[in-house]
Amino acid sequence: MNHQPFETWLLDDKHLSAVEKRDLDAHIRVCRTCSALSETGLALRSAKAVSPAAGFTVRFQQRLAAQKIVERRRRVWGMFVLIFSGLGLLSWFAAPFVISFLSAPIEWITTAVGYFLFIFTSLRVLGDFLQVITQILPQFIPPYAWMVLFSAMAGVGLAWAVSIWQFARKPQGVNA
Ligand SMILES: [Zn+2]
Repeated sequence: MNHQPFETWLLDDKHLSAVEKRDLDAHIRVCRTCSALSETGLALRSAKAVSPAAGFTVRFQQRLAAQKIVERRRRVWGMFVLIFSGLGLLSWFAAPFVISFLSAPIEWITTAVGYFLFIFTSLRVLGDFLQVITQILPQFIPPYAWMVLFSAMAGVGLAWAVSIWQFARKPQGVNA
């Protein structure tokens, strides 16, 4: 198909007479190439990105603008796919918890509150204990006593571990 002079008119952003405009519209209706070109030109003009420069510059800007539109569309789609797949994965993992929460919300809330209270009080008790220890101990205990205390704690820990081990072993012995 012969695109002239319409292609030149579109690329140069020529000011058209009424007759020329009618001819151009008629050509655009049957020619995909020129209608695409015209749409790109309209998009550029509405973005006020085009200067009245002619020829190569306009053609380059049009191609760049079209490329940018395609790129932006691809990026938006990529973002959509990423967000939706992420949400899908998240809901897939969270579904069992949400379902059990919805079936027994009060139990869950009490459990959670009790858990947080337990952690909170434990931390506070531990903090108080450490504060007291750090305030008192250095005054009373000379350096060599630290070694005694440390080995005593190690001994207690060892005895504890052994007792747990024996406790765990006992049922086996009873059964046998
Ligand atoms: Zn054409």
